[in-house]
Amino acid sequence: MKKYFYLIILFAIITASCDIKKEQKANTEQQPKKPKNIILMIGDGMGLTQMYATYKVKKDNMNIARCRHIGLVNTSSIDELITDSAASGTAMATGEKTRNGHISVDTAGKRLKTILEVAEANGKASGLVATAAITHATPASFIAHNPDRNDYEAIATDFLDTGIDVFIGGGLDHFDKREDGLLLTDSLKARGYDVMTEKEELLNYQGNQLAALLYAKHPPKVYEGRQDFLEKASNKAIETLDKDKDGFFLMIESSQIDWGGHDNDADYVIQETVEFDDIVGKVLDFAEKDGETLVIITADHETGGMTVTGGSLDGENLEYHFSTGHHTPLFVPLFAYGPGAEEFTGIYENTAIFDKMMQVFGFENKE
Ligand code: MG
Ligand code: ZN
Repeated sequence: MKKYFYLIILFAIITASCDIKKEQKANTEQQPKKPKNIILMIGDGMGLTQMYATYKVKKDNMNIARCRHIGLVNTSSIDELITDSAASGTAMATGEKTRNGHISVDTAGKRLKTILEVAEANGKASGLVATAAITHATPASFIAHNPDRNDYEAIATDFLDTGIDVFIGGGLDHFDKREDGLLLTDSLKARGYDVMTEKEELLNYQGNQLAALLYAKHPPKVYEGRQDFLEKASNKAIETLDKDKDGFFLMIESSQIDWGGHDNDADYVIQETVEFDDIVGKVLDFAEKDGETLVIITADHETGGMTVTGGSLDGENLEYHFSTGHHTPLFVPLFAYGPGAEEFTGIYENTAIFDKMMQVFGFENKE
């Protein structure tokens, strides 16, 4: 009998030590690290020349160069070679190609769920920052559903249907100076948002549900006095969203690189892109410290067919040429930094950006 007793003890010890070994193995095995947060940074109209010009202004020292994983993205819409910001915003936001002008609806008008909405459904916080009206095509694609990108008042109404935690940009008139007479800022307040309309209030904001509509229409250009709006807005959005222990999704758009391209105004393009790269530096600093944030920097399309036709070796006196006042279908670059960044190398469709974000977040499906 005693013999059996010792055998049982021995068996128990072996089983226990096996469990310990198993646990140790699980801890040391390199699991692919998933990001807790994703910050998607979009330079609207930012192709390679726009970036090259910035690289030269910054004496070959861009913040974006801190990213080690680089891809090229095809931006065509479902039925046109050359996309607009609505169709390409929709592709990145939902993983589906659609027609130019459509905001996160398919060609039949059906609503397409966005990465922001999926993140919300999975308990994450979410936010949008833009140097345009927050109702403009790029930010709208992440939160609204409308076959017409110019239906700004309906797009503003869509903000009330979501769990978005922070949005900062222009477009106050689309919320409060409407044909239907509604004051959507009152509806936002009723839903718990702190509504802010003065830029000066941004710095001291300490809450966690912020609707900051700081311009009636669009913020001004950098060279017409926008000052540090994008830096303040990006910092405040990150600081606010980072309070959520489940993580967050944030889209930051430098909206006006595109408008400089449409104007064939190289100074406009360059100043907006230089500012964007400055903010990329701040965002990468946060991601580096945080260690759980994936930063993706890309564009929705190139604008202007911009190229460099001359200049001196030291990068001074560059001569620029624009081949169109519209968009081009050229590949746009994508840069990624942080956990999951390795998934973003190669050449792929803009819809794959959504698929890859879903994958690295570990979200199973859209519904
Ligand atoms: Mg845009
Ligand atoms: Zn454009």
